[in-house]
Amino acid sequence: MLIRGGRVIDPSQEIDEQMDVLIVGEKIAGLGREAAGSADEVIDASGWLVTPGLIDMHVHLREPGYEDKETIETGTAAAAAGGFTAVACMPNTEPPLHSDAEIEFVLRTADLTAQTRVYPIGALTKNRAGKELAEIGLMVKAGAVAFSDDGDGIADTGVCLRAMGYVSQFDRLFIQHCEDKSLSRGGCMNAGLTATRLGLPALPAIAEVIMAQRDLTLARQAGVRYHVAHVSAAGTVELVRRARQEGLPVSAEVCPQHLLLTEEMCARYDANFKMNPPLRSPDDLQACLEGVRDGTIGCLVTDHAPQVNSEKELGFQEAPFGIIGLETALPLFVRALIDSEVLDWPRMIAAMSTRPAQLLGVPGGTLKVDQAADVTLIDPEAEWTIDAERMRSKSRNTPFDGWPVRGQAAMTIVGGEIRYRCEQQR
Ligand SMILES: [Zn+2]
Repeated sequence: MLIRGGRVIDPSQEIDEQMDVLIVGEKIAGLGREAAGSADEVIDASGWLVTPGLIDMHVHLREPGYEDKETIETGTAAAAAGGFTAVACMPNTEPPLHSDAEIEFVLRTADLTAQTRVYPIGALTKNRAGKELAEIGLMVKAGAVAFSDDGDGIADTGVCLRAMGYVSQFDRLFIQHCEDKSLSRGGCMNAGLTATRLGLPALPAIAEVIMAQRDLTLARQAGVRYHVAHVSAAGTVELVRRARQEGLPVSAEVCPQHLLLTEEMCARYDANFKMNPPLRSPDDLQACLEGVRDGTIGCLVTDHAPQVNSEKELGFQEAPFGIIGLETALPLFVRALIDSEVLDWPRMIAAMSTRPAQLLGVPGGTLKVDQAADVTLIDPEAEWTIDAERMRSKSRNTPFDGWPVRGQAAMTIVGGEIRYRCEQQR
C-alpha cells in the first residue's frame, strides 16, 4: 500500500514534510520523497496529514460487565473512527481487571472483536478497593501495560507506597486518579460559585491537588514512573511542572473537556456535563492549556466513559459521571490547541501518539521502517458537525452534540489493514 503525497508528521523522527509512505504487509516498508516500487493500493493523501496511529491511553471499554454501555468491539470501532489505532483500557469493569484471568479475557476478546489494538491497564488493588495489592506480577506476565485504580485514587498512603514499589519493580507506569474522597465524597460538580448557586454538593479542586502532592512525595521514594490521570486543576499542573523540573519521571494527561468547558455549563442540569474530575473554573482551564503549551502535560486522552441514556437522564446529582470521547477528541483538540496556537501539529501528534507509546512501552507512535504499520490519515480542514446519534459507540453521552468542528480522521490503518475509512472523504 502506498500512501502518496501527504504531509508526513512523525515526531519520533522529527519529520514534518511532504512524503510517501510505503506499507508492506503489517509493517512500514519505506518513507521518502518518492517511495519506490509499485503498490497494489495507492492512497492519494494530498492535503491530508499522515501520522503514526493515534493512541488513547485512557479509555473505558466497559467489557466485561457493562456491555449495555460499551463492548470491546463497539468501543474500538469508535476508536478507529476517531483515528485511534490503539487504546489502553482502564480496569474498572465487573469483575475489575485485577488478576491475570481478566487481563487475558480482554486480550482474547480484543483478538476476536477489536478494530484497534487494545492494551489493558491492570488494577493496583484487589477489587480496586485500595486495601490489598492486586496480583501485579501475574498481570504483567499476562500483558498489562500499566496499573491504576482509575475511578478511585488509593487513599491509604501505605498501600499506595507499596503499590508504587511493586509497579516500579516491573518498570510499568503507575497511573493515579487523584481524588481524596474525604474532600469530595458525594460531590457532583466543581466547588465554586456555580455549585453554591445551584445548591449542589461539590468535588473541590483541592481533592485532586492534595493526592497528587502526597503521591509525588511517595513516587520520589519509590522511584516509580508516575502519571497523573485527567488533570483538571491549576494546582495539579503546577505540582507536576515542579516535579518534572526536578527531573522526576512524572507525566500527566488532559482531556478535551477540561480544555474547552467550564463549571458554569453545569447550570443547565444536563448530566452530559457531569464528569469526574468535574469541569472546573476558567483559571483551571487556562492552567491546563499552559501546562500543555510548556510540556508539563504531555499526553492528550479522552477518558471515554460511556453511560446509558436512562442513567444519564436521572437528575444531575444522581446521574453517573463521564462522557464519551473517542469519536470527538481529534477535532476538539484541534479547536482547543491548534486553533488557539497552543500546539502545532507535530507537538499535538506527539501528545496523541508518540509519547503515550513511550510511556506505556507499546509499539506504535512512530513511522520508522520495520515498525508496525499503524497509521492515521487526517484531513485537517474537514468541517463537520458532531452528531451523537451517528456515533459508533454504544452510548450517546457527549456534551459536544451539535458542535461544528474542523479536523477529521480520514483513514485509520492498523497493522497495514484499513480499519476505518471516512465516508465523507474521497
Ligand atoms: Zn479517572
